[in-house]
Amino acid sequence: AWASSKPPLLRFLNACHADFTPETGGAVADYIPELGKADPAHFGISLATLDGHVYEVGDTQVPFTIQSMSKPFVFALALDTLGAARVESVIGVEPSGDPFNSIRLNAENHPFNPMVNAGAIACSGLIYEAKGDAAFDYIRQALGRFAGRELDVDDAVYASESLTGDRNRAIGYLLRTNAVIKDNVAQVLEVYFRQCAILVTARDIAVMAATLANRGVNPVTGEQVLSAYAISRTLSVMTSSGMYDYAGEWIYRIGIPAKSGVGGGILAALPARLGLGSYSPKLDKHGNSVRGIKVCEALSSHYDLHMLNRS
Ligand code: GLN
Repeated sequence: AWASSKPPLLRFLNACHADFTPETGGAVADYIPELGKADPAHFGISLATLDGHVYEVGDTQVPFTIQSMSKPFVFALALDTLGAARVESVIGVEPSGDPFNSIRLNAENHPFNPMVNAGAIACSGLIYEAKGDAAFDYIRQALGRFAGRELDVDDAVYASESLTGDRNRAIGYLLRTNAVIKDNVAQVLEVYFRQCAILVTARDIAVMAATLANRGVNPVTGEQVLSAYAISRTLSVMTSSGMYDYAGEWIYRIGIPAKSGVGGGILAALPARLGLGSYSPKLDKHGNSVRGIKVCEALSSHYDLHMLNRS
């Protein structure tokens, strides 16, 4: 009787957590050495509805680094800060079909889209162009408004990536020689490494996702964080490119705009419906959280949430 008095959605999330806890496939990312220290057992699922209700199951208060889930927010921030024309003059919006760390640019020598590293570094460059040395804090504060609380940085993960991030540095210099980044490549990369090391929880990610799903209004704080225009464009590139070289399969099977990060997070935002945040550090070969994908698959099929199956 007690169990059945729980809200059905919470019962469903509990069942997901129990069903997928035995799933031990995948590997914790360790190409950034500090990320290798994550506890592979951690597993948290949080779901935020647009009336500001936040459901949490498992390790939803464990902090981890946002990594590539920062990309949609910094893209949206760049759109509102510099204007769409400036952003679109240097970053494309086509899926690349390439892994997240691909060094390949498009035929115009621009990044394919803002969801892969090249495009995200270009976005950090645009924010740097507008804000100079205040760029990182400008980003951190904006992400905090999406989460509804001030966010910190994991300095050890930041230092670890900065020390080993030669591939991203190579991308940065390639962007400069193609005039995507104006100058100050080293500073822009530090902004990018720091933004990737911002600490979040699965709960934060759910609220951030729900803010995307709610046309930019944080459903917990009520704040309009960025323009509805920037948010809809951001959801568009999440739909086409948010899951890297799994993006096509993802939108076909699950049908919810999403973004993953190598820290083990997945953010999924279903417009006008909900935001989901999951955390489980073991990743598949694309760099997507194995358990997180299972949770999204189960959520989409159980509640029939595919975005192209609506009436
Ligand atoms: N900071 C990471 C990198 O640039 C982010 C990658 C990711 O989360 N997919 O390699």
